Amino acid sequence: MHRFGFDNTFARELPGAGVAWQPAAAPAPRLLFANAALAEELRLPPEALQGPDAAALFAGNQLPPDAEPVAQAYAGHQFGGFSPQLGDGRALLLGEVIDRDGRRRDIAFKGSGRTPFSRGGDGKAAVGPMLREVLIGEAMHALGIPTTRALAVAATGEPVMRDRVLPGAVLTRVAASHLRVGSFQFFAARGDLDTLRRLADYTIARHDPELIDAPDRYLGLLRAVAGRQARLVAQWLNVGFIHGVMNTDNMALSGETIDYGPCAFMEAYDPAAVFSSIDHGGRYAYANQPGIARWNLARFAETLLPLVADEDDEPAVARAVAEATAVIDAFPSLLDSALLAGQRLKLGLLSAAPADTEADTALVADWLALLHAQAVDFTLAWRHLASAAEGRPEPLRDLFADRAALDAWLARWRERCARDVGPQSGERAGRMRRASPAVIPRNHLVEAALAAATEGDIAPFDALLAALRDPWREAALLTPYGAPAPTEVTAGYRTF
Ligand code: AMP
Ligand code: MG
Ligand code: MG
Repeated sequence: MHRFGFDNTFARELPGAGVAWQPAAAPAPRLLFANAALAEELRLPPEALQGPDAAALFAGNQLPPDAEPVAQAYAGHQFGGFSPQLGDGRALLLGEVIDRDGRRRDIAFKGSGRTPFSRGGDGKAAVGPMLREVLIGEAMHALGIPTTRALAVAATGEPVMRDRVLPGAVLTRVAASHLRVGSFQFFAARGDLDTLRRLADYTIARHDPELIDAPDRYLGLLRAVAGRQARLVAQWLNVGFIHGVMNTDNMALSGETIDYGPCAFMEAYDPAAVFSSIDHGGRYAYANQPGIARWNLARFAETLLPLVADEDDEPAVARAVAEATAVIDAFPSLLDSALLAGQRLKLGLLSAAPADTEADTALVADWLALLHAQAVDFTLAWRHLASAAEGRPEPLRDLFADRAALDAWLARWRERCARDVGPQSGERAGRMRRASPAVIPRNHLVEAALAAATEGDIAPFDALLAALRDPWREAALLTPYGAPAPTEVTAGYRTF
């Protein structure tokens, strides 16, 4: 078996933050997916993905000799309730590599068997959900949204028991790191300030090295994480993505989207959209995501306070609380400006004066209100707005039942575009098409591909993956991948 060139700082520098552990053996490994481009980016030996050993490797039977598998400890607020110990119940960090751009990346298994953190779980994963991580992660990556990515999926040949018997699989996931808000909560909840401080310094060295020598580096970390989350959630909103389980253990400090469970992209615009059957109260609905990110960030801030100020030094504590609160309070406006910046690209606007903020925000709000009132497909509406920018409003108008309301809005939008300095309308349409994809992972297509793969037919998955990796092409609108779901499919859709 080939070495991956691992350099395992997490295992080495934070011995108390995980447990050395081995994956379970898979009876009949079979490789279902391998990401050659990503392997190249990670500078892995090419044989790792192609050779006869690839299935055994990615099912966990035969590890690279330099892997040091660790089950990572973390806690987390799940749907608002705190669990002091979650951790990698079915995952293992194999190690870190330095990619060809000099970035450190984690390589980890998911579904590789029980660990000391498994509680009642079996430590396993099924083919469908692991291939789902591939599809959504690759789609997000193609859309330019920070995300963990799938390196491989291997079927284990072992059945896993869910609501029915399903084929088992192991996902190999690549992440900028697996450090989460919940990682900090784990040590904060135990009052283990020593490990907490080492974890914070480790996180800074890994994600915000410019802060290493800063006197207020922990507040700096909070600000950096806030900035990344604001930009991330803004990007989610601008493609209609609903994460589905924004628990604090699923919020990565790197600013990558992590843990694709019951996530989904909306079709018809609805700010209350929620797809997860376990999210009864709609806590993680589309439009709640900024507020939840802020709430999670406040939980992160709480873990940092004891590092910023000694608890016996009351004035210092008060100062730290005030500064952390200022970061949390500034989060909504950070997010709003990231959101508006993205929306302006989608509107085709290049220039904006401070005085435009209010009117542009209202222009977008009125557009979204129209989409909502008329249950218009979010993706196609934005995409066809580009055609309207080159004098072809018909595809857009065809999406609306009440066209007079749309036409009134279009008149306002054209007026705003006319005030926009710079390029001609043709260039504007091209720019808009680079900000609003033609292809998103439509839920009915994802489900169909996963159902087929579960039955042993991988072809629909491969075809969908290819379409998701190329989401900007206008011609894709003429394929099933660019078309909305038939309405009878979207009504009441649940991810699980
Ligand atoms: P998630 O909802 O995927 O973010 O997982 C929440 C927690 O449950 C994490 O600690 C997971 O490791 C754990 N978990 C999820 N599924 C399983 C499983 N099948 N076996 C053991 N632990 C699991
Ligand atoms: Mg998770
Ligand atoms: Mg999960």
